[in-house]
Amino acid sequence: MSVVTEKSLQCELLVAGGGLSGVCCALAAARLGTKVILVQDRPVLGGNASSEIRMHVVGATGLHAGLPLELEPREGGLIEEIRLEFAVRNPQRSPAVADLILYEFCRAEPNLTLLLNTTVVAARVADGRIVDVTAERPSTEDRFTIAATMFADCTGDGRLGAEAGAPCLRGREGRDAFGEPLAPPQGDTKTLGSTILFQARRHDRPMPFVAPPWVRKFTASDFKLRPFGKSGSDLGLEYGYWWIEWGGCLDSIKDGERIRDELLGITLGVWNHIKNESGLDVAHWALDWIGFVPGKRESRRFLGQHVLTENDVLGSRPFADAIAFGGWPIDTHPPEGVDAPGEAPCTQHHVPWLYDLPLRSCVASTLRNLFFAGRNISATHLAFASTRVMATCAAMGQGVGTAAALALRAGVAPAEIAGDAALVGRIQQQLLRDDAYLLGVPNRDDADLARRAVVTASSAQPGGEPALVVSGQTRAVHGPAPAAGNAAAGPANHWEDVLKALDSGPSRPHYTVAPPDRARPGMHRWLSDPAGGLPAWLELRWAELVAVREVGLIFDTGLHRFLTLSQADGYTRRMHWGEPQPETVRDYCLEVETAAAPGEWRAVHTERGNYQRRRVHRFVAAGAPALAGIRALRLVVTATNGLDHARVCEVRVYA
Ligand SMILES: Cc1cc2nc3c(=O)[nH]c(=O)nc-3n(C[C@H](O)[C@H](O)[C@H](O)COP(=O)(O)OP(=O)(O)OC[C@H]3O[C@@H](n4cnc5c(N)ncnc54)[C@H](O)[C@@H]3O)c2cc1C
Repeated sequence: MSVVTEKSLQCELLVAGGGLSGVCCALAAARLGTKVILVQDRPVLGGNASSEIRMHVVGATGLHAGLPLELEPREGGLIEEIRLEFAVRNPQRSPAVADLILYEFCRAEPNLTLLLNTTVVAARVADGRIVDVTAERPSTEDRFTIAATMFADCTGDGRLGAEAGAPCLRGREGRDAFGEPLAPPQGDTKTLGSTILFQARRHDRPMPFVAPPWVRKFTASDFKLRPFGKSGSDLGLEYGYWWIEWGGCLDSIKDGERIRDELLGITLGVWNHIKNESGLDVAHWALDWIGFVPGKRESRRFLGQHVLTENDVLGSRPFADAIAFGGWPIDTHPPEGVDAPGEAPCTQHHVPWLYDLPLRSCVASTLRNLFFAGRNISATHLAFASTRVMATCAAMGQGVGTAAALALRAGVAPAEIAGDAALVGRIQQQLLRDDAYLLGVPNRDDADLARRAVVTASSAQPGGEPALVVSGQTRAVHGPAPAAGNAAAGPANHWEDVLKALDSGPSRPHYTVAPPDRARPGMHRWLSDPAGGLPAWLELRWAELVAVREVGLIFDTGLHRFLTLSQADGYTRRMHWGEPQPETVRDYCLEVETAAAPGEWRAVHTERGNYQRRRVHRFVAAGAPALAGIRALRLVVTATNGLDHARVCEVRVYA
């Protein structure tokens, strides 16, 4: 008899895969009241961003980030909450502390059950729906049967969907398959390769490195397009090299063990070359860590209700069912990786406009209750080459989790959501309320009492008038107008240009801005006048008395900058790391004026030490709004984390 214990579990949404797409999907749904089980096969969360792999998170900030008060492409919502938490609570940039913070996010949600070390291995389908999945946890000798109403495959490799028979795309599509100009004339099965990162540290005495006999032998000519061992972004020795890439000509799933072994030999071979052959002054440097889990870039992509293409991305095609946005370049790599030393390790096709990610690219075409989010969404190889970056994956994870929660409430299956315009509208409005950004979609929430208030302030700067806290948008995205011709497929940057751009700023900046018809220019926030000093107040006054159950605030966190946990020193120097963002309001108080005491302000909440962008304060007693008979509400800002004036992007008020 087997020692395995069979267990049955049930939930509303099962999320398979605890990378950033799965974590954000599970958190979004759980926070909206959905009973969620998150199944993650590794002991830690974060996927390629976890301590096991250590890749930093990028997204629509692209290579050049944005411009203060003009272009703020960094994603909002859950991934911003996570990034800010990492930045403040992990100044030491410990990968393990980041794991812990992600774990803490999940543990904090009463609706979320987290199963670590547990792998989804099978799915049972009946009448076009997934009924349940089988998941195994060898460490406890348990096998789970998990039934759910909806399923989200965020596994990267698409194991859940593949087990359920969802059709997939693999490799590179030929030009005619989807009419993509950048595609090769003929398709093939090749993918982006995998990578093992390493970290090295400088010591106070020489540290020898003796290479094992099985390492790859390299010569200087192998690195003529792959510079290393210099100061600057992506070049130092402290974070390894993403271009140590291999395995794109094999099957990244079935050949995974062979790819790991070869990559260990390649990675140590590069290190051996650096230490013992390059002539660099690296005697005091020693390996501190080397990954044993290869970072996998590409495997299955599902065929969903819509296949996102290069043309959708470069043309910023508007989608009525948008749930997230992207902006990273179309970033292709030679599948041969280091075996193609004569080819640049990446080619970055600039994306001129921020672009929509439609829900339909995250919904199965043949199964009624399957979503996907992350690198396995329904996209061609070229569109995936942009959407795959982790902040974009996280934003779509939040979009899918939100869609699932609201569809469950409405009793609508994932396959039917896109055809239900009213439901799509509610999903988008919920996403905005939770600080996601959707191109050109303003806050239209009739329940938001702030939209009916007259907004005034103690002072304001031109362009930063108080009424902008109810403009319906919470960031600037208009940016500088792209250069003429930029709207077409932009120029391709090879690796040398990318390095130049990272180190010294681009000679010709490639900003990725919102398309003009959906840009809604402006700063979209209140800026108090520095001459007025602090405290500064913002007031919302209603013509009629209102009850208040919830006040939602969006503060400025400098979304024009890079912000990510990175082991690369040069990259980190471009951020405000280890501290709150200077724009963010730190100390504030919420005050109300009631009908009973006109002209008197009563403090109902005081906050000290804030560093988050989105804050929600609830005032509920016995299930009803605790604040009644309210004439006006004031936000009094007493301190920021650095600036000499207050900035507030949005105030929402709900009864
Ligand atoms: C070397 C490298 C460099 C990259 N550079 C960057 C970069 O600089 N910035 C950036 O943002 N992105 C980068 N990317 C891309 C990015 O890391 C991936 O596209 C991204 O991680 C995809 O997110 P995901 O959540 O879909 O998958 P993942 O991060 O892979 O997460 C999926 C999770 O699901 C788990 N899982 C798999 N199968 C199962 C199963 N059957 N049951 C339960 N759990 C399962 C996996 O263990 C994993 O933890 C890079 C990728 C690589 C490999």
